[in-house]
Amino acid sequence: MVKKIIYEPGRTFSEFSLFPSYTGKDCTIQNISLETQLAGLDLKIPLLSAAMTSVTGYEMALALGKEGGIGILPARLPIENQVDIVSKIKNYEMGFVEDPVKARENSTVEDVLKQIERHGHSKVPIVDKNNIFLGMFTLQHYLQSTVSLQDEVIDAMLTIEKGEVPYCNNPNISVDEAKKLLERNEQRYLVVLDNQNRLEKLALKKDIEKIKVGAAISTHEGWQERVEANVAAGIDLIVIDTSDAYNEFTGDLLKDYKAMKTGVPICAGNVITYDGALFLMKNGADIVKVGMSSGSICTTQREKAVGRAPMTALIEADRARKRYARKDRDIPLIMDGGIANSADEVIAFTIAHAIMLGGYLNRFYEAEGEKLNENEEVTREESEMRMVATWGEGSARAQNLDRYGHETQKTFFEEGVEATVPYAGRLKPALKSDLIRVKAALSNTGCMNLEEFRKNADIELLSLESRAIVSEPHSVEEKR
Ligand code: IMP
Repeated sequence: MVKKIIYEPGRTFSEFSLFPSYTGKDCTIQNISLETQLAGLDLKIPLLSAAMTSVTGYEMALALGKEGGIGILPARLPIENQVDIVSKIKNYEMGFVEDPVKARENSTVEDVLKQIERHGHSKVPIVDKNNIFLGMFTLQHYLQSTVSLQDEVIDAMLTIEKGEVPYCNNPNISVDEAKKLLERNEQRYLVVLDNQNRLEKLALKKDIEKIKVGAAISTHEGWQERVEANVAAGIDLIVIDTSDAYNEFTGDLLKDYKAMKTGVPICAGNVITYDGALFLMKNGADIVKVGMSSGSICTTQREKAVGRAPMTALIEADRARKRYARKDRDIPLIMDGGIANSADEVIAFTIAHAIMLGGYLNRFYEAEGEKLNENEEVTREESEMRMVATWGEGSARAQNLDRYGHETQKTFFEEGVEATVPYAGRLKPALKSDLIRVKAALSNTGCMNLEEFRKNADIELLSLESRAIVSEPHSVEEKR
């Protein structure tokens, strides 16, 4: 006799909608924060890149880290390789933006906003025809001002005359000198001009903060060596990467890891049940990662019928979190797998402290997968890029990368496919625009941050019929 049969179907993110709640005047997109705290690791944005060889390498970890999230380097990378990337990222130095995107003084606000949308930089220097610096257009200042789209950009810019723009007249300034000036002023940038006030370059404060980076480990032999090497290189987060973490190996690993006293938080996963989540919490996990069978390239359900609908898995793990929570230990949850767009993100954030993204990030220039042209040939020409190659960590392609996996070859079967995703350009602008959508949803609920959102969000399940009405335009022919 089977032990348990649940007749209530599991649920995914897109089956829910979020209710608005009372919104105060201050609860604007500009004022809302998406910062998250993960067991001592503070992230500016609550996003982790999947520990997949098709997604995360140096470029992705750097790009996501610069935005305030964290890239997780796959466990399949040889230790030297992982550590080399970690060192490069932790030692990443502020450079100058030598040729910043700029706009002329006769542009309209709308022209400049279009530029911002294309490039993702929120600060645009305004110059005249001789490249003389006139002022700085910043998205933040614009959003707080009353200027309209058709106004000239000079009406919306910050100026040196009013003391609003930090600058220096030294084109030969060194990185160290720029750092010192940036430390001294409140603003997050410095405009570098020559002695005739012509624009030379910009220095941005964000780039001098240490970028966060994480590394995945498996439970197989040799994980201690991998941990030690990564900790020595300055890693910020260790992630146990297994598809099913409710087992003795993971429990033992957690206890051994704690005994190592690395000072680096450890995230364990994945689990999809109340019992599984509670098991990891009791064994010392600092963070628990949730999800199985919902990854974009995943065939686990197809091959062996194991898994769970992602939102239901998250709800169950959260039940365990509440059950386990104590004053000094409330274990944050990361949702992993099946999050495809900003709407999914919003629903996941009603419970999860952060989310891990594979397919979503695989679309970008910075992903590891090869970029393909319209004939599916590999290309390095950005203008020709149409698709990006993706593959699961359980695919034959990923398995072939695994130098240490020979023992498991005999029993190996594929749990992930090789595929492609449509190319979506650079990470930064797309991420920014999706995070604005997430902030807009928080604003609808009157929540200033993710913690308030997790406490106050109300969501409701949609029937199939109501999804057809609520989730998509209907009864119309959409313009393409
Ligand atoms: P996505 O964001 O929906 O693409 O899901 C990404 C997640 O899928 C990863 O973080 C892993 O947890 C999971 N995953 C990665 N590779 C495989 C695989 O080959 N089979 C099943 N799941 C995988």
